[in-house]
Amino acid sequence: MDQQPIKPAPAPVLTPMMAQYFEIKAAHTGYLLFYRMGDFYELFFEDAEIASAALGIVLTRRGKHLEQDIQMCGVPIHAANDYLNKLIKLGHRVAICEQVEDPKEAKKRGAKSVVKRDVVRLITAGTLTEDDHLDARASNFLAALSMVRHGDTDFALAWADVSTGETFTADLAAEQLSDELARIDPAELIMSDATKLALVESHLFAPAWVGITHFAPVQSFDSEVATASLRQAFPAEEFDPTALSRAARGALGAIIAYVRESQKGAGVILRAPIAETAARHMAIDQATRASLELHQNQRGQQRGSLRQVIDLTVTAPGSRLLSARLAAPLADATAINDRLDAVGLLANDTMLTGRLRTDLKAVPDLARALTRLALDRGGPRDLAAIGKAVSAARAVAEHFERVVDVPAILADLSRTLAAAPVDLAGHLAMALDDELPLLSRDGGFVRKGYDAQLDDERALASETRAVVAALQARLMDETDVRSLKIRHNGVLGYFVEVPAAHGTKLLEEPHRQSFIHRQTLANAMRFTTTELAELEGRIARAHEAALEIELRIFAALRQSVLDRTSLLRELADALAELDVTSALAHLAATRGYTRPEIDNSLAFQIEGGRHPVVEEMAMAEGRSFVANNADLSGDDALGGGRLWLVTGPNMGGKSTFLRQNALIAILAQMGSFVPASSAHIGVMDRVFSRVGASDDIAHGRSTFMVEMVETAAILNRATRRSLVVLDEIGRGTATFDGLSIAWAAVEALHETTGCRALFATHFHELTSLAKTLTRVSNVTMKVREWEGDVVFLHEVGPGAADRSYGIQVARLAGLPEPVLARARQVLTVLEQRSAGTASSSQKAGVLDDLPLFAHQPPPRPVQKDPVHLALDAVRPDEMTPKQAIEMLYELKKIRDDARRS
Ligand code: ATP
Repeated sequence: MDQQPIKPAPAPVLTPMMAQYFEIKAAHTGYLLFYRMGDFYELFFEDAEIASAALGIVLTRRGKHLEQDIQMCGVPIHAANDYLNKLIKLGHRVAICEQVEDPKEAKKRGAKSVVKRDVVRLITAGTLTEDDHLDARASNFLAALSMVRHGDTDFALAWADVSTGETFTADLAAEQLSDELARIDPAELIMSDATKLALVESHLFAPAWVGITHFAPVQSFDSEVATASLRQAFPAEEFDPTALSRAARGALGAIIAYVRESQKGAGVILRAPIAETAARHMAIDQATRASLELHQNQRGQQRGSLRQVIDLTVTAPGSRLLSARLAAPLADATAINDRLDAVGLLANDTMLTGRLRTDLKAVPDLARALTRLALDRGGPRDLAAIGKAVSAARAVAEHFERVVDVPAILADLSRTLAAAPVDLAGHLAMALDDELPLLSRDGGFVRKGYDAQLDDERALASETRAVVAALQARLMDETDVRSLKIRHNGVLGYFVEVPAAHGTKLLEEPHRQSFIHRQTLANAMRFTTTELAELEGRIARAHEAALEIELRIFAALRQSVLDRTSLLRELADALAELDVTSALAHLAATRGYTRPEIDNSLAFQIEGGRHPVVEEMAMAEGRSFVANNADLSGDDALGGGRLWLVTGPNMGGKSTFLRQNALIAILAQMGSFVPASSAHIGVMDRVFSRVGASDDIAHGRSTFMVEMVETAAILNRATRRSLVVLDEIGRGTATFDGLSIAWAAVEALHETTGCRALFATHFHELTSLAKTLTRVSNVTMKVREWEGDVVFLHEVGPGAADRSYGIQVARLAGLPEPVLARARQVLTVLEQRSAGTASSSQKAGVLDDLPLFAHQPPPRPVQKDPVHLALDAVRPDEMTPKQAIEMLYELKKIRDDARRS
């Protein structure tokens, strides 16, 4: 997305405005420059071409530059947000260039001088703060990747959500990079050119990063420079930069520099960074996230994803936290059990949970309101949101007062909430009116009675309004024009307006002296009088004075909020966490989820497990979901966990069964109850899932290549503590190659890795592995055959399937009967002859033997003549003569119609 800088032309050719434009543009390469001109942001040259194509707006021309037309397009100020949104979503970055002086000032310097302009804000996907640009229920991370070379190459990531201030760092080895970035899912990623080059050379630069990566100068990753800027950005008692690695300091320094640059002096409002270690979380790679549809379905939509089904939170910050927990389940049994204790109490006390959820529903987005206020971008509504959230926090805390045996997490949360600064909330409620404008400069947000001086000025303003009405009545009498009105607009201010017919009267004696002509319109004439001008001055002064007081009050209230920033942030965290905990409790109570038993064993024993998403869909369609057990438990003495080989018909439910077990493990480790009647899980360090084939043609990888790359990642990285779910490995190549790869993969998982694993396959030959590999068991999806059709029972039972019922399923899918007949024929021959066929040449022989005549398409069924069909229905004995004649005409018509068609 970075563009080439526009080369400034030789000075003499440039108008002063163009010179200013080029200067500003040159300082912001890589950004589309929104150049303020009156009520529009204008874009020029290549920017105009890009924006007009992206936004579907007209491209025009304005003058010439170097003999060439200057391309131009513009967006009106009032609609700029919508356009900005579109551009950001397409991966562009925008520099907002405003007029920073009153045009009148510019005129004083000479008629030709241009208004001073400067870039006041850089809008980039990772540095957004306005609600208009953000998804309320999604975090919006800016990530920076730094690299240091000492022996092995080490990396560090820093990431921050500028809208809430949350900031994190992590040191990473090269192979962890793509998993971590998949988890964080940043809106924007910055790195230096050198880092990108090194990543590309070592094949570590993931295709998914292309659209979101921007380059930052290598100096901004310098750890020495960073240390100084980190000391400035975070209070020493909260954060010690030297505790971080050099790489992490560099990455964090780059984040601070980028955010500072984007906010153009508005400050950086990040929270003290949390240093994360990848080992704290269950690792889930990008392919697994995609195949399990954790946050999005395969088409990139939320519908049908696990998140959509389990997210019962009632606040936007709660939803963001739930999403983060789903992205990074824990890998520590104690921490998981702490979360489960909290969910457990609320799942059992549905009355309490109901009350909490009702109160939480009214809680606004405290963290984002606080950030906007800190950046001086907030308005009266943000202040009110803070007050409301604080009061709600206290009310929520009260619900816990009578609860006994409160688990540690909930006890901490209720303590934090009980410390909510209610004095602040009280003050804000007293100061702010019920109906609030978005911007403080609009005024009218301070409640009557809060400030005596303000009330006086407002009274004056409304008094003067009464004086205007009196003046209008007097002028009506004096002129005898009943339709005379005193009006106001932005250009003329206050003026006297009379219909055109009466206008000339005011231009003549005796009125000429007092009425000064201002404007003539088609139907009306406008005047002013000395008295009206004076009155206008008084009204404006009263308004100004009132607004000035309001702005002073706003600043004081804002400061009182900012003084409590860290307390308010803790409160925001606690409210979000309580929302997540009560939402998970509500999920458990309403959907029949149970508490999993979590420990450090190698257990994986699920009774009556269900797929959370497929179950929802089945229920919505009035079907029931068949629950299934799984037991992959093992122990170190046995050499690891068990591997279940799952065979069964197409459409039998293998993929569903595989996925549901992975999802149960993820839900359990994020601290949620699970869709099963019971579950015992020894903590997993990683979950791998490869279900179904996909290709990546855009990046030069075929379906089979993708499958093998992902299988390689699993075989290389799975440990004894991992859960591996593999579906139909080896389907994308020749049968024997595929079978051999699948065979070897099962052996490797069993012999070397020793992980708990589910392996679904249509290679029925694999089931014989259960005879030799002690921890391999065969299970199958049961079916019943009925009148030539298959009925899927979706039930997992011991044993191995000997066939896949592919042709029956194809029939259900509507394959034409001749094709099905031919397929049955081929299958019979293959089955009869396949025993003993070991090479593809012999197999080819089998195919050569197939009866060739069967290739001939069967004759088309004869279409019966419509006249014959009609005659078949005729009963001559039952007809009256009239009906018989009518029938004759009808038959003739049928024949004519048939001929025409
Ligand atoms: P294939 O081998 O063709 O990929 P499969 O055995 O993997 O098929 P699934 O895709 O898991 O089959 O399931 C097919 C359909 O059966 C699902 O879309 C779902 O609607 C239904 N289904 C699967 N499992 C169950 C279940 N336990 N209870 C009810 N319906 C189920």
